[in-house]
Amino acid sequence: MSELKQYEAGSYDVIVIGAGHGGSEAGLAAARMGMKTLLLTMSLNSIVAMDCNPNIGGTGKGHLVREIDALGGEMALNIDKTFIQSRMLNTSKGPAVHSLRVQADKRRYHEEMKKVLEDEKNLDLRQGEAIKIIMDGKKVSGILTKTGGLYHCKALILCTGTYLKGRVYMGELNYPSGPDGMQPANELSQSLIDLGIPLMRLKTGTPARVHRDSIDFSHMEIQPGDEEVVPFSLMNTGKTFDVEQVPCYLTYTTPECHKIIQENLHRAAMYIGDIEGTGPRYCPSIEDKVVRFSDRDSHQVFIEPEGKTTKEIYVQGVSSSFPEEVQIELYKKIKGLENVEFMRDAYAIEYDAIDATVLKRSLEHMEYENLYFAGQINGSSGYEEAAAQGLMAGINATLKIKGEDPLILDRSQGYIGVLIDDLVTKGTKEPYRMMTSRAEYRLTLRQDNADLRLTEIGYKIGLATEERYQVYKKRKTSIENEWKRLDGTMIHPKSEVNQILEDLGSTPLKTSLSLKELIRRPELSYDSLKVLDLDRPNLPKDIRQQVETQIKYEGYIKKQQMQINQFKKLEKRKLDFNMDYMAIGGLRNEAKEKLMKIKPESIGQASRITGVSPADINVLLIYLEQKRREKEDEESLG
Ligand SMILES: Cc1cc2nc3c(=O)[nH]c(=O)nc-3n(C[C@H](O)[C@H](O)[C@H](O)COP(=O)(O)OP(=O)(O)OC[C@H]3O[C@@H](n4cnc5c(N)ncnc54)[C@H](O)[C@@H]3O)c2cc1C
Repeated sequence: MSELKQYEAGSYDVIVIGAGHGGSEAGLAAARMGMKTLLLTMSLNSIVAMDCNPNIGGTGKGHLVREIDALGGEMALNIDKTFIQSRMLNTSKGPAVHSLRVQADKRRYHEEMKKVLEDEKNLDLRQGEAIKIIMDGKKVSGILTKTGGLYHCKALILCTGTYLKGRVYMGELNYPSGPDGMQPANELSQSLIDLGIPLMRLKTGTPARVHRDSIDFSHMEIQPGDEEVVPFSLMNTGKTFDVEQVPCYLTYTTPECHKIIQENLHRAAMYIGDIEGTGPRYCPSIEDKVVRFSDRDSHQVFIEPEGKTTKEIYVQGVSSSFPEEVQIELYKKIKGLENVEFMRDAYAIEYDAIDATVLKRSLEHMEYENLYFAGQINGSSGYEEAAAQGLMAGINATLKIKGEDPLILDRSQGYIGVLIDDLVTKGTKEPYRMMTSRAEYRLTLRQDNADLRLTEIGYKIGLATEERYQVYKKRKTSIENEWKRLDGTMIHPKSEVNQILEDLGSTPLKTSLSLKELIRRPELSYDSLKVLDLDRPNLPKDIRQQVETQIKYEGYIKKQQMQINQFKKLEKRKLDFNMDYMAIGGLRNEAKEKLMKIKPESIGQASRITGVSPADINVLLIYLEQKRREKEDEESLG
């Protein structure tokens, strides 16, 4: 085959590889912040493809979507246009874990995002495969495509998902492939290896898609959407959605189903040993579940529609790497699927990812300037995790080109901060998915206050629009005014007041109390106290809920704020990127090696590195103090 003839294909400020969940956010962020941007992707038909579950959100993930929205990202707006069912999870628990989870119409989700990308000024959307990264010394300068296009850029963002050296497994069968029959990206990995960037093999899996008419729903529990739809985007707050929601259904595997799995384990790719990649602990395949939880004779299976114009059904909870024949046999043993007709097989996919500890918290590579990574390629798993990283990589590549400091969200500012800090400080050996339990300050990082935490920042960096900023300002002011009003409105111990309190199941007043104090009582609420608060303004539900949460959890939030102040003190103790930890006496060897590898940006980040002990941190603090004094002495000796 003759040598590929290269040609000059164009120059951009930012080039983003991959128009998946990460790349779309990265491309939009850079373009909206004024960068001439190219979004290159292998197939325009797989823009924000939902290769796995047809839903956005859920615990931890819903928080990420709200934060992406608050900063000026697109995911929340896109799903508010294309959802087919909406549910608020964990409403019986505290507000920290309330999580919106919505079912998407996959085809419309793709179409709407493609439209947004096509309409975006400064953004060129192009089908093509990147095969080589072009460097100018240690600085990225462009990419080469499979068709010979040489593109130049100031910054490059890789968001290649599960495509790099993608390989699909179904039992004894495996072959090079991207997800869902798409072409794999087989050449770019070598370019990363040539740069000395270590790659690891990760794996994930997806269940079969089956025909709706072949399912017997009579044995299943219906799972309808919420009557009152809560939007993901701040920009849609208070809007009513005229969407006829479609239900999901809950069914179960059976002992017969588990028997087929146990009898055929030797034919599952995961157990044949062909797959070297590590899979996600929190999205295990059905064979993994049956092996790991062998005491259980049934597992939940959720029947989820993939859209309104398709009969394809996603069978959540039964992803598998079995051969097709075994898949069909075991699916037919799931309640209600006795006559199931397959439309797409389940499969496992293995792909190349990088060890994200080679990245700074801006998602820029430590050694190669202006080279950024986001999404599944960083070892995360999930549309929301990818979108959050893509957004931050797009923002930071732009700020870098503008010569401004990167935007680093720390663990007390957002789940995005937790996500990126975990990936670049600790790394991951398996696909990393976000959960509320990963966030130590989760009472502060609720999904209901993402705008109050982040929109000011999104506006300052030039991404959040003026319209969004005004919506946020208005909301913030309403909340603050209502808080002050409740704090300043005193209720006095009159007989009719105490009668009302008794009727509400609360204790009568002995002395005057503010409405705020009354709302703090567990048995009372902002809404139930309406009878005692006749002059109250007519506020939208989300404001009322916000004020009530802030009042009821005031003590806990204050306590957490004190912990956050402590945390920030250590985050502020910056560490020099070129620090030679090998030369610091008193540090243990393991700590020296880890510190040299991770190059933490602060004492706080250093303290989160696995293998760096509190004693090592003390040694570092003493060393920094010594250095500070030496410098002071030198300056005083001037
Ligand atoms: C089989 C399967 C099962 C999954 N299961 C789960 C799960 O259970 N739970 C969960 O949370 N997530 C799961 N996911 C993951 C979820 O799909 C991803 O996390 C998410 O799509 C990652 O987004 P991304 O932007 O990183 O990459 P993707 O959305 O995969 O997008 C990558 C894009 O990059 C393009 N591309 C790649 N290489 C090149 C190149 N060289 N040149 C040009 N374009 C390129 C591709 O065409 C694609 O459009 C699964 C994914 C798959 C495939």
